[in-house]
Amino acid sequence: MTHLISCKELVDLVADYMDETISKEARAKFEQHLSECGYCSAYVQQMHMTVKLTSQLSESEGDKPAPDELVDIFRKWKNEQKPD
Ligand SMILES: [Zn+2]
Repeated sequence: MTHLISCKELVDLVADYMDETISKEARAKFEQHLSECGYCSAYVQQMHMTVKLTSQLSESEGDKPAPDELVDIFRKWKNEQKPD
């Protein structure tokens, strides 16, 4: 099965996706990839939960996680899954 975008390209879109600033076209490709890739799908779900939890926890502290930090975590996770 051919992926419209690679896992690496998906990583580049994660921040925009989480921010909901992603374009319709990119979002369609992003979601297409998630439907075909179990690793990315599981991780994006995990990220959603993390963001939700963190935003709930940080309401009192007024501190939100930076999308860059999430992308960094994602990249590290990807490297663990598929070491070069
Ligand atoms: Zn993937």
